[in-house]
Amino acid sequence: MRGIAAFGVGAALLFVQTGLAQMGAPDTPPPVSMQAFAGPLAAKYRVDADRILKASETEDDGYVALTYLCDHIGKRLSGSPQLNTAVEWGAELMRKAGLQNVTVQPVMVPHWVRGSESGAIVAPVTKPLHMLGLGMSVGTPKEGITAEVVFVPSFAALDAMSAEQVKGKIVVFNPGWHGYGFNVMYRGLGPSKAAAKGAVGVLVRSATGLAMQTPHTGALRYDEKVPKIPAAAISVEDALMIERLCKEGPVKVHLQMDAHMEPEVKAGNVIGEIVGSEHPEQVVVIGGHIDSWDVGQGAQDDGSGIMGAFQAVTLIHKLGLKPKRTIRLVFWVNEENGGAGGVAYRKMVGEKIKDQVAAIEMDEGAEKPLGMGYGGFESMMPGAAPFDLNKLPPDQQQSYAALQDIASLLGPIGADRVLPGGGGSDIEPLTDDGVPALAPRTDDQHYFDWHHTDADTLDKVDPKEFRKNAAMLAVVTYVLADMDGRLAGKNAAAAK
Ligand SMILES: [Zn+2]
Repeated sequence: MRGIAAFGVGAALLFVQTGLAQMGAPDTPPPVSMQAFAGPLAAKYRVDADRILKASETEDDGYVALTYLCDHIGKRLSGSPQLNTAVEWGAELMRKAGLQNVTVQPVMVPHWVRGSESGAIVAPVTKPLHMLGLGMSVGTPKEGITAEVVFVPSFAALDAMSAEQVKGKIVVFNPGWHGYGFNVMYRGLGPSKAAAKGAVGVLVRSATGLAMQTPHTGALRYDEKVPKIPAAAISVEDALMIERLCKEGPVKVHLQMDAHMEPEVKAGNVIGEIVGSEHPEQVVVIGGHIDSWDVGQGAQDDGSGIMGAFQAVTLIHKLGLKPKRTIRLVFWVNEENGGAGGVAYRKMVGEKIKDQVAAIEMDEGAEKPLGMGYGGFESMMPGAAPFDLNKLPPDQQQSYAALQDIASLLGPIGADRVLPGGGGSDIEPLTDDGVPALAPRTDDQHYFDWHHTDADTLDKVDPKEFRKNAAMLAVVTYVLADMDGRLAGKNAAAAK
């Protein structure tokens, strides 16, 4: 999940709160969350919700499928044969589960290939680096590059340096860990900012709070106005060691990367439905992304998301619940390095955008669920004004109240909160056009420990917490698809 700008700046912003919590800083504010209260929606849907929660306790179709996806298909970067295997398998899974109108919407996706890669400190000591090239990076010349390092703790520090200090060097960024939304800027924008000052390569501290000699990849985003230079993530430990060595004197690094782009490949969004009984044209869309990085198994990111959503929707179907509106399950493609699936889905919806009643994306892993995030109306970046419900327009305040009402149904699984900020990269094109966005929110205990690494494997997904996430999604999705009225989206007035 979660890059920057074209690769989903919305999602990146939304996770700052939980990221900050991971810092353990004494002045970290607790995440804003609103308590549930039972109202008319709870009264109307209590019986159905309890049935869903009860059935969820023993439901494991999604986890069984996730296990297959991880162990038999594995990592599935856009352009890879594994991704297309996953797409075909996903469509078959939806058909077998009895969903209606199962289809694969064709989407052309970029095909970035990592190739072989390595890095090492070559002076004043010799030591291999724990590195992982950043997605979409260009490669080095065949023989690699060897250059002196310039250590940079912040963009402000880079700005203060003269071009002379940076020219011909490899910039090593380590801004510390301030949460994903903050650190992702260094991964995404750092390479071109360094190139603008004449750097020949970039190494960036992995976007994680955990030092386990594990590099975390993720997409960079080149500024087309400056030369594209190769860039890789390094482990926290290696970033800190380079920082220490730089204080003693000149440090040299060797970097070799074969990374390159190949022609686009045809892949697709996988789509299946429970068709609404009264308003089939009105859609609550729910899903996650089927692609992953080319390391690990894409278990939490975002296997848990697509399979959590799958389990939620199939559970509604199995229980014979027939919502008035259509529930549409989507496994979006190419979230990690392009966002082509989300854009293609928005295009398909076309002018019928107002029939997209709500969009729910699960792309934060299946850790202990706290409740549902909603909105994405306000920036959650450090320094932004704190969230203030009372400053929102009345329709958005009413929507928060409706969600607090729905959330009260989730008390039995401890997921009865409503948190500001919700959405994801794949639904951002919908959210931007006024569709209300939601996302499960979890306690995020370890998500960024494994995120985009070789360690994002099935064992990281706790079956019990996975079930709770699916149960929460099932209840919320069902109520949103069946209730009278709908939630407000961003720019709701403009979208009307
Ligand atoms: Zn993801």
